[in-house]
Amino acid sequence: MRAFIPSYKLTTPASLADALALLKNEPGVWKPFAGGTDLMVLLEAGKLAHRDYINIWGLQEMRGIEASNTHVTFGALTTYTQVQSDPILRREFPMLCQAASETGGLAIQNRGTLGGNIINASPAADSPPALLAYDAEIELVSMRGSRWVPYQGFHTGYKQMQIAEDELLTRIRLPRNTADAKHYYRKVGTRKAQAISKVCFAAVGRMQDAQITDTRIVVGSVAPIVVRCVQTENTLRGQKLDEQTIETACDTLVREISPIDDVRSTSRYRFQVAKNLLVDFLTGLQD
Ligand SMILES: Cc1cc2nc3c(=O)[nH]c(=O)nc-3n(C[C@H](O)[C@H](O)[C@H](O)COP(=O)(O)OP(=O)(O)OC[C@H]3O[C@@H](n4cnc5c(N)ncnc54)[C@H](O)[C@@H]3O)c2cc1C
Repeated sequence: MRAFIPSYKLTTPASLADALALLKNEPGVWKPFAGGTDLMVLLEAGKLAHRDYINIWGLQEMRGIEASNTHVTFGALTTYTQVQSDPILRREFPMLCQAASETGGLAIQNRGTLGGNIINASPAADSPPALLAYDAEIELVSMRGSRWVPYQGFHTGYKQMQIAEDELLTRIRLPRNTADAKHYYRKVGTRKAQAISKVCFAAVGRMQDAQITDTRIVVGSVAPIVVRCVQTENTLRGQKLDEQTIETACDTLVREISPIDDVRSTSRYRFQVAKNLLVDFLTGLQD
C-alpha cells in the first residue's frame, strides 16, 4: 500500500558539508535520497523504513567524471545515462557502459545513480559486477574525514556493508589498466530490457604466450552478495587454455557461488548459466 506522503520529510542541503552535518548530528535519523529509483518503489509499497530524507541529488561535490594518468574517478551521483555518454568510460570500461545500457529503461537510466546501485546492495544489481571486475575503489566521507576503500569486501552479507551511519558514498574510481585486457559482460534475464538479472557475469582477462596471465571474474544473482570468484581466478593463473583448465575452473566456480530458487529463476539454472558464461569468456580469451 502506498505510504502517506505528508508523514515524510525531505530536506535539500546546499552543500556536501551541510548534508554530512545532518548525518552527524542526528545519527540514524536521516537517509540519503539520490535518484530515488529504489526508494520510490519502497515508498509505493509503504515499506520505507525512514521518515527523514536528505535530497543529495544537487550536490555538485558528488558529480562529474575526471581522468588522471592512473584513474578515472566519478561522482556517486553519476547516472547510467552519463556513464554511457562518457568517451573514456566507453573506451576503457565498456562493461560498465554495457551494464548501464541494460539497466532499467531510459527513465531509470536518467535518474538512477551508480552510488544508489551500490548502497541499495541488491545481489542482482547490474553495475557492481562490472565495478568489481575493474577493481573499483569507493570513497566514503563523513564529518570525521574521507576514506578510500576497495569495493571488493565492502558488501559483507545480504544488504550488509561497511558504511557508517554518518557517511556518504561520494566517489568511485577505476584504475586505468584495462588497455590490453579482454572484457566480457553478460546480463541474463527474462527479457532484453526492464528485467532483473537471473545471472550477471563480468570478467576481464589477459593471455600471454598461450598462457592465462590474469583474470578477474565476478558473478551476480548467485549468492547473497555479488561474488568476485577469486578461487576460480587462482585456478586459471599461469595455465594453458585447454579443456582441463576450463573444466577445473567450472568445478571451482560452482563451489564459489550459492544460487537459490526464487521467483526469477532456479538454483540449477543459475549454476548452469554461470558455468556456460565462464566457458564462453574463457574461450573468447584466445581470439
Ligand atoms: C523500473 C525499475 C527498473 C530497474 N532496473 C534495474 C536494473 O536493470 N538493474 C539494476 O541494477 N537496478 C535496477 N533498478 C534499481 C535502481 O534503479 C538502481 O539500483 C539505481 O542505481 C538506484 O540509484 P538511485 O540513485 O535511484 O538510488 P536511491 O533510490 O536514491 O537510493 C538507493 C539506496 O542507496 C542509498 N544511497 C543512494 N546514494 C547514496 C550515497 N551516495 N551515499 C550513501 N547512500 C546512498 C539510499 O539511502 C538508498 O538506501 C531498477 C529500478 C526500477 C524502479
